[in-house]
Amino acid sequence: MNSALSTQHSQSDVIVIGSGIGGLCAAGLLARYGKRVIVCESHTIPGGAAHSFRRRGFEFDSGPSFYCGLTAAQSLNPVKQVLDVLGESLQVIPYDPLGHYHFPEAIFAVYSNTEKYRHEVHKITPQGAEELQQFEDRLLGLYEVMKGIPTLALRADWQVMLMLMKRYFPYLVKMLPYLALVQASVGDVMDTTVKDAWVRRLIDLECFLLSGLKAHGTIAPEVAFMLGERSCTGVEYPVGGSGALVKALVRGLERWGGKLRLGCHVEQILVESGKAVGVRLQTGEIIPAPIVISNASIWDTYNHLLRPEDLPASYRKAALDTPAVESFMHLHLGIRATGLENLTGHHVVVHDSSQDITVPGNTCMISIPSVWDATLAPEEHHVVHAYTLETFAGWERNDEYEEKKQEKAQSLYRALEKVIPDIRERVELELIGTPLTHAHYLRRYQGTYGPAIAAGKGMFPSTQTPIKGLYRVGDSTMPGIGVPAVAASGILCANSLVNLQQMGELLDGLKF
Ligand SMILES: Cc1cc2nc3c(=O)[nH]c(=O)nc-3n(C[C@H](O)[C@H](O)[C@H](O)COP(=O)(O)OP(=O)(O)OC[C@H]3O[C@@H](n4cnc5c(N)ncnc54)[C@H](O)[C@@H]3O)c2cc1C
Repeated sequence: MNSALSTQHSQSDVIVIGSGIGGLCAAGLLARYGKRVIVCESHTIPGGAAHSFRRRGFEFDSGPSFYCGLTAAQSLNPVKQVLDVLGESLQVIPYDPLGHYHFPEAIFAVYSNTEKYRHEVHKITPQGAEELQQFEDRLLGLYEVMKGIPTLALRADWQVMLMLMKRYFPYLVKMLPYLALVQASVGDVMDTTVKDAWVRRLIDLECFLLSGLKAHGTIAPEVAFMLGERSCTGVEYPVGGSGALVKALVRGLERWGGKLRLGCHVEQILVESGKAVGVRLQTGEIIPAPIVISNASIWDTYNHLLRPEDLPASYRKAALDTPAVESFMHLHLGIRATGLENLTGHHVVVHDSSQDITVPGNTCMISIPSVWDATLAPEEHHVVHAYTLETFAGWERNDEYEEKKQEKAQSLYRALEKVIPDIRERVELELIGTPLTHAHYLRRYQGTYGPAIAAGKGMFPSTQTPIKGLYRVGDSTMPGIGVPAVAASGILCANSLVNLQQMGELLDGLKF
């Protein structure tokens, strides 16, 4: 049926499957480079894990709410660099402390400002505060050298070296002493600088919040980037929520002629003679294109979007065997805000210090973004999002589903009670999400947070695939999970599809 597809004249140069941040960044950048781009998004709302949704006047973030460097002039945040070249910008609300960590033995304010942060740690462990400084100095040194090279100058093939040698040679030289650190885990840095058990758990927690893995599983550049950005550019929340960031990327895509099709589920990537030639939608419609970029996860792409015979068997098996971080329980609440004037926006609650922080239900993340942006909730109300890891296995939509859902939401309610003791009496709207909800709405394999590829045990795969013309972006490609990382994956992919001169022209317009 598809035999003539490769010879057909296609009306698009690139099809991107999925409008997650990775997909939108790749698509926007390729449109900016002059390619004819179509993004096919299965959901009726764009943004994937970063989409916002509205219920009864409450605007909820489905996932991320923690952002740095969305507006600072020389931000290292790849999303900001994409927005810049697309001619888009965001309004943000800066805030500090960036959150409160609630351990059973202490509540602790976390500041973006490194000195204020250490001052808080000093109150709990003076020795630990000194060790934390050594740990941070080591990672911030790496951040300083990373700062010289914008992600927009990178690509996922050998030509990256030509670009770096030509435009960023002095920074490459500065990077040399840090080469070992680039490949190290945060745990390696922690082992050489921090003995204090309390600070070690704090570092583990911060790594877990970022990568889903503790310090020994998290790569050092990821945390160097996070610490550097949050101390240099500060933490901020986009006015309008995460959806505002998605909207800005979509505006940027469309401004440069790209198209977004919502409710457009791709059923199959069409491959002829080892080359991607387009996609077939669930409706049966075929869209031909010489380049296809999948923003679906590695498991979804290789399991559902390709036929097994399209990939070398051993490659396919290794890819599908990639370990996955667990999924989530979510609690989205609309609550009455009366009397909560001093509420702050981010909280992390660890219920039980004797249990590992990664045990499902033990560490709960809370975000109340209406304390920064009151437009997200009706007057005198707040929007609340609380979530914790939860295993996908064992969840079924059977007779026990509703009861299990209520029961599993209790650790989130108990966490919320640490912040708002009478939370249960304030609830006006309650939405409980399970791993099945997460997998369904985000179209993600087992509702996973992303690949559990531990530092030193493997690398996130590149954007290239064994199929000519087929690329992947998003959190199961290099450099990994999180909004800045997936935006970087989109940049790496888009840049690999243009020449160095085109990249150079865009970089000239950046203030780097
Ligand atoms: C609860 C939670 C909190 C988080 N908090 C933060 C945070 O504070 N800060 C931060 O930086 N990161 C955070 N993250 C991580 C971050 O949100 C994700 O890593 C990132 O958004 C993933 O983007 P992605 O490009 O990989 O694509 P995804 O978001 O996975 O999007 C992929 C898209 O592809 C679509 N799709 C899939 N299959 C098909 C198909 N067959 N046809 C058409 N479309 C398809 C999906 O519908 C989806 O829209 C959080 C994640 C979660 C879950």
